[in-house]
Amino acid sequence: MIYRNQCLPRLYLPRGEGGLGLSEINHQHRATIVSIGQYLRSSQNDTLSIVYEHQETRASRTTSVTQLAKHFGQGCLSDEDETPNKCATEIARKSRQKYTETFQQMNLKEWDQHQCAKYFGGELSQEYIDKEGSLEWLKRGALHHDQERVIMAGHDQELMTNAFKKMARISNDNKCRFCHTELESVGHLISSCKVLGDGY
Ligand SMILES: [Zn+2]
Repeated sequence: MIYRNQCLPRLYLPRGEGGLGLSEINHQHRATIVSIGQYLRSSQNDTLSIVYEHQETRASRTTSVTQLAKHFGQGCLSDEDETPNKCATEIARKSRQKYTETFQQMNLKEWDQHQCAKYFGGELSQEYIDKEGSLEWLKRGALHHDQERVIMAGHDQELMTNAFKKMARISNDNKCRFCHTELESVGHLISSCKVLGDGY
């Protein structure tokens, strides 16, 4: 889905945030455990209380759903006194939502710190950028995944431009293949090469 060295967390961010909106399997697995753990913790049902008790006191730490939920979902689980008069299903849904928000915050942070991809992410949040309009094509999802991949590689500065090749020590020449004077970056090819700008 992406090129080597491209920004992996972008795959899992929602399309409205500039990601591809895919599910990350490990996250989904853990989010389900957090949700079930919270459900057992909050349920008022007598039989489920026995299950909760068993999971807390008798099941091993590596198989107990409530103990694993505490391990994965630190800061996302609620106690009974924090959620009075709410049904267990609703509380479990909230905990899962909170856990997913934490995961997406982590993805955004990683994108923000990515050596090459951080520039596009930073630019998207500028005041003079129409973020919604800029990501409309992604939200529509009308392109083939190969096309989406090339566009995103352009965003992330991971296309095989001469600047990239020199940085990766594939060649020594980092000048533009058209004008032969400026550094050949994605930004240069798209918007500032004089030769390409003349209609070539
Ligand atoms: Zn040029």
